[in-house]
Amino acid sequence: MQSEALRGSGLLPAAARAEMINRLRRQGILRQDVLATMEKLPRHLFVDEAMANHAYSDMSLPIGFSQTISQPYIVARMTEVMLNQNVKLSKILEIGTGCGYQTMVLSKFADKVFTVERIKGLLDKTRQRFRDFSVNNIRNKFDDGMPGWDAYAPYDGIIVTAAAPELPQALARQLKIGGVMVLPIQARNKQILCRVERNQEGVHIEQLEPVQFVPLLNGVIK
Ligand code: SAH
Repeated sequence: MQSEALRGSGLLPAAARAEMINRLRRQGILRQDVLATMEKLPRHLFVDEAMANHAYSDMSLPIGFSQTISQPYIVARMTEVMLNQNVKLSKILEIGTGCGYQTMVLSKFADKVFTVERIKGLLDKTRQRFRDFSVNNIRNKFDDGMPGWDAYAPYDGIIVTAAAPELPQALARQLKIGGVMVLPIQARNKQILCRVERNQEGVHIEQLEPVQFVPLLNGVIK
């Protein structure tokens, strides 16, 4: 079944993944733990079956409801930025669960991942996927993630997988001192991936590179 879905690419999933990992290395991903995790995770099971033969390509893909799974490079890059900090990652908050691929990657590095998604239909599918993978350290919520998830704050890390018009202050407040938030911020006609570190005085924002994400939106879709 799994190899069936990938037939169009002429590669078995493991071979397609190995190819993806080599490409990520060439693209500058340095952390072996991130590469090893992505090499094991069957990304083709997170996208629509019709798209499975592109699952390991260097592109974002539709996941339904007009949303997209980020390209492998972006997932690797955001995870790497999240891991390159001094605090131990006991709790991570993710805004924008989508198909749950980034969530699953993060779940290998944190004690607990909390994730929020505003589209009910999308989250329902992803919840089933989490059950299929028998992960037990991901807690999810159907809600607007803009205000964060106060009940479990503060977080060691926060990742936002949709582009915010500006730094969401509510999220910054839920970050631990020394914690890092990784997110795309919309600046005029382009988006920049940013690393935000909270310190005693406030936050320090570092711009990393241009990216392309779907927008972070208010409210929920039932
Ligand atoms: N990490 C996901 C990316 C999905 S795209 C993946 O790899 O599949 C971004 C997601 O953010 C979409 O599912 C979108 O519905 C969600 N999103 C956008 N604004 C949001 C908000 N305010 N709260 C929660 N989720 C949001």
